[in-house]
Amino acid sequence: MAKQFTVQDFFRRFKDDDACLDHLMTVRYGERVTCPKCSKSGRFVRITGIPAYACPTPRCGHHIHPMAGTPFARTHTPLQKWFYAMYLFTTSRHGVSAKELQRQLGVTYKTAWRIGHEIRKYMAAVDGTPPMGGHVEIDETYIGGKNRGEGRANKMKGKATVFGIVERAGNLFTKVVPNSRRVTLEPIIRDLVEEGSTVNTDEHPAYNDLRDGYRHVALNHRAEEWVRGKHHTNSIESFWGLLKRSIRSTHISVSAKHLPKYLGEFEYRHNMRKHPEKMLGRLLLSF
Ligand SMILES: [Zn+2]
Repeated sequence: MAKQFTVQDFFRRFKDDDACLDHLMTVRYGERVTCPKCSKSGRFVRITGIPAYACPTPRCGHHIHPMAGTPFARTHTPLQKWFYAMYLFTTSRHGVSAKELQRQLGVTYKTAWRIGHEIRKYMAAVDGTPPMGGHVEIDETYIGGKNRGEGRANKMKGKATVFGIVERAGNLFTKVVPNSRRVTLEPIIRDLVEEGSTVNTDEHPAYNDLRDGYRHVALNHRAEEWVRGKHHTNSIESFWGLLKRSIRSTHISVSAKHLPKYLGEFEYRHNMRKHPEKMLGRLLLSF
């Protein structure tokens, strides 16, 4: 297990805005930069008073602005606050609400909300999905809605269908899908999960054709069959549980429009959980 990156570690490493800018410069451009103007390679020098670095070659005059193209460039929020917000996102298990960011960063609610959404967007963008395989669990769940009235139609009103694949002790993939039919789900599985993998699902008919190409074991949840030897869907279901509890406790409600961003955030955290110390660097690299 990787060493935790504590709040003390954070403030030691990112003690002020200048330290944050140096870090941003290094992760984006490297220690030594080949100047696009004079083509010489060297360590760029921080320019006093502006968030930029200058080419060390005499009379070249080329400047690099490491914040350009990042969400940091477009706000007056100090860089250290952005970094601390990213740190909170990468270390929290349940996600970070706008209220919590407002309190921790000492910014307005509106600013906190915007920072949260920008970070979520980038967390989702960094976390590309490699091919999955080995022993995987596949399941779908329903999130949101008011849960009022009787009958399936009423219970499903306003709910988003979320589909998920998790490797045992590996990566997680989630996606908001239009429905849970075979024509929707099976192509996603065939696209992402390597042939020959062991696949566990419940008895949902959308998964009926998976025995073609996979070692598919479906647990019959209706008949209260939860485990058969090493086959079960407990990993994906515990992820659904964590996701729903977190959304309920941290965010009063998540609209269908914003749900993919929240899923991206949780997925990122799941997939980076073994390397918490790398999270901040990876996030910054994505700009
Ligand atoms: Zn130069």
